[in-house]
Amino acid sequence: MSEFARRVANGLGPWFLQHQRDLSWRRTRDPYAIWVSEIMLQQTRVETVESYFEGFLRRFPDVGSLAAADESQVLAAWSGLGYYRRARLLHAGAKYVASELGGALPDSAEKLRKIPGVGKYTAGAIASIAFERPSALVDGNVARVLSRLQAIEDPKLQDAGAAGHWTLAQQIVEAGSPRVLAQALMELGATVCTPVQPKCLVCPVRSECAAHRKGLQDVIPAPKKRAPSPRQDLWAVAVRHRGRVLIERRPSEGLLAGMWCLPLIERAEGGERATPAEVAAATGVTVQAIETFAEPVKHVFTHRVWVMWPCRGEADPAAEMAQETGRKGQAETLWIAPGERPVGGIPRLTEKLLERIGY
Ligand code: SF4
Repeated sequence: MSEFARRVANGLGPWFLQHQRDLSWRRTRDPYAIWVSEIMLQQTRVETVESYFEGFLRRFPDVGSLAAADESQVLAAWSGLGYYRRARLLHAGAKYVASELGGALPDSAEKLRKIPGVGKYTAGAIASIAFERPSALVDGNVARVLSRLQAIEDPKLQDAGAAGHWTLAQQIVEAGSPRVLAQALMELGATVCTPVQPKCLVCPVRSECAAHRKGLQDVIPAPKKRAPSPRQDLWAVAVRHRGRVLIERRPSEGLLAGMWCLPLIERAEGGERATPAEVAAATGVTVQAIETFAEPVKHVFTHRVWVMWPCRGEADPAAEMAQETGRKGQAETLWIAPGERPVGGIPRLTEKLLERIGY
């Protein structure tokens, strides 16, 4: 182990014990609860996770209860957290742990990585935080801290995947309590060594930091040149019949897989409104006239932006049977009254669309 890693660990450990934020998942050593928290925290703010974490654990207190649940129940408990693929993978992981590992999470990062949905970072987090195993974990926050500590200026060596970061992180967690040091690295990145305007004056490892010494803390890591996510314009069609509105379950693959949403239709460039023919093709329901709302609902996925233009139309009374059965059996559909929601709930995006059209 390098002397540098030891000095960094000596600075981080006591600082974390004194200054850590009081977060729900820090009050437990239950590996399952820590696993749930790590999955929820991916791409989601700490404050948001705080408001879902305990409710999810009340609903599914252990691996067995999660493994035995239906997917719709899991998605319902996840509803509002977004990135539903994570919930599906967590569910698949719980089934694997229940059936292959007797319901107990293994204590080494190597074995943890065999669980569906558990990557290198999550395995390191569970092994170090729940089991006190010296297992490195490097995400974007930790990579930024390590890049600055060493004043790494080459963008290729700044990312979370850089081998040098994993080696140094490993040495740091080996220099004391892995549980404390792994969380200390994450906490420093989240609260002190922030992406913009790092708080070097209160940093517990300032004396070890090469970027601070050289005045490079604001330019490391180099800003990423991100191509803008492709934008997709869609009509979100509210077909109404006897005061109820038609929603459908999205396909089991792709964005919002398995979630309830208004039927979506690709909006042609310059298209002013969805046509009755398009609506009939998408929903199996004939409508007479379609009213379009001016304000779209925007939703940003990881690699795509959906701009959804709400519109609504009354189902043609002459097409009663088709209206009752929905879209000719191609998709699961439901007619809901204002304020009514399907069992299992709906994603926030659908909620916004329904609010926009007055449901
Ligand atoms: Fe980050 Fe500043 Fe601390 Fe260096 S001194 S690790 S740049 S907060």
